[in-house]
Formats: sequence, C-alpha cells, structure tokens
Amino acid sequence: MKIARFVARGVEQYGIVDGERVQATRGLPWESLEKTGTEYALAEVKLLAPVQPPDVIAIGLNYKLHADESGMPYPAAPVIFLKATSAVVGPGDAIVLPEMAPSAVDYEAELAIVIGRSCRKVSAEAALDYVLGYTCGNDVSARDCQLKLDAQWARGKSFDTFCPLGPWIETDLDPDQAPIRLELNGETMQESNTSDLIFSCRTLVSYCSHMATLRPGTVIMTGTPSGVGMARTPPRYLQPSDHVSVTIEGIGTLSNYVRADE
Ligand code: ZN
Repeated sequence: MKIARFVARGVEQYGIVDGERVQATRGLPWESLEKTGTEYALAEVKLLAPVQPPDVIAIGLNYKLHADESGMPYPAAPVIFLKATSAVVGPGDAIVLPEMAPSAVDYEAELAIVIGRSCRKVSAEAALDYVLGYTCGNDVSARDCQLKLDAQWARGKSFDTFCPLGPWIETDLDPDQAPIRLELNGETMQESNTSDLIFSCRTLVSYCSHMATLRPGTVIMTGTPSGVGMARTPPRYLQPSDHVSVTIEGIGTLSNYVRADE
C-alpha cells in the first residue's frame, strides 16, 4: 500500500494511492486509514513530504563502498546524526543552495524508514513491527560545512530544503533487498541495493530505539551508497537548475530541482 500526504482543494490530507488515483483517508496514517470516500486524480493534487517527522535520525557510512570513497573505516556500530526537521521538503520541491554555503552541496540517495508505532528499546527481531513503511530520501549535505568548516555535521546537514522525502510511504517493501539509484539530470550517479547496507533496517531501528523513544512519524535515513558528488574527480556538486531524482524499486521516484537562494 502506498500512503501519500497531499494538498487537494486547499486541504492537507493523507490518502492511499491506487494507480493514478488517490483515495483520501481520515487523520494520521498511524492512527487510521479509514477512507473518507473522496478520491482525486494524482495529477490534480500536490504531493507533500509523506510525513512531518518529529525527528529525522540519519546514519552515516552505512554502505562499504561509500565508506571507502569517503576514506573512512567501516564503523563498528551505526554512526548517528540528526537532521533538522525544518529541512524536510516534498516531491517536486526545490533544493535551495544556501547563500552562506552554496558551492559544495551534495546529494545522497537513501532509503528512509518511517516509524508507525512508538517504541523504545526494541529488539532487532521485533523492530520491523514498529515500522509503518519506507520512502525515498535525499540526505542533501553542504560538504564544506560538514567536513571542513564545522566541528560537527549539524549545519551542513540541516539547511532549509536539505531533506527531500517522498513520493509516498510504501508499506509492503522488503527493506533488505531494495535496488536504489540516484540520477542527476538523467545520468545515473549512485546505484546499489539495500542488501549492501552494513547495518540493516531492523538493526538500525533497534539501535536508534535504545537511544531515544521513536515516535510515530520518526524518519530514519539509512545511509547512502557510493557515487556522491564529493568523491568524483573533479567533484560534482549541485548547481542551479539541476534535476536530481532518487528511485527505490518498489517505492517510486522522488524528484527535486535545484535553485540558488534568493
Ligand atoms: Zn546520508
């Protein structure tokens, strides 16, 4: 099942995507998926980020080839950082190059876990019972802030628009074998499979739940495969009018364009 958040006739709402239609539902998807009886053509609604997360937890260096290209050893435990929830945007929205750090903005295709039931200190075996579903994420990163200018990652990972999510939440995905790809202006830059994750989704949910209570709507970004812009020669950072899309088979495609700050 695909759960979308969208605006139709000026009202923000959730719904279930069925082919080219979306059937509106009542309330929040982790509370109810009761249909209201109203249905729209997908083409006539504006899709939003499928969740307004209370927290966005992100995982660094979770694909071996990406750790290699970053010149970092494989972590012994998940490397956790946070992205500001104010950075979340939806499908079709702009990624804005920040005025104070416009020149080393990079893309990172990621499988994003969406928590559906509050949990704390769950085992890896039980962890996926607390997951509502999965969506595509782009962990946009200002590399100069992240790696050169600041002592830690908060600013470089949290500029406005640096967390595109979408196009919807897929509830029926096998998170252990999902092909993932990022295209920049139609050219494939990242291509991998979540079977290459160092720490699996169930391990990540369990580990993060031992750090903090995971509330419904919490997003866990699971890390990016190799092929990021900073690891290329020369580096390929995002430029105004670039189009960047993250595709995860079984979910769909999250597309965004890039513009300068005004
Ligand atoms: Zn990332």
